[in-house]
Amino acid sequence: MAKLEILPRCSAQEYNRLVDEFLARYSVKDDKGVYLCIRCKAALQAVHTRVSEHYREFGDGCAGGGETIRVSLPYCANCDERPTIGGCIHV
Ligand SMILES: [Zn+2]
Repeated sequence: MAKLEILPRCSAQEYNRLVDEFLARYSVKDDKGVYLCIRCKAALQAVHTRVSEHYREFGDGCAGGGETIRVSLPYCANCDERPTIGGCIHV
């Protein structure tokens, strides 16, 4: 059972890398471009959520302009735990 976990203060690059890695490892794309679970062949689900966007210039301090960004985390409802996101992304 896999679990995609985005920790707090994740960078945008790190977030993209984790999602790409998850998709590369656990999914195949069908001919319509839908991601299917490589294990049970079900269409992957995604958790859509909004997280706070903080500025990296402030280091580990969580400060930003109060903006939020939309993120989507893929998972298979049969094979995986629901992904969790740690609350903020540092850009
Ligand atoms: Zn599956």
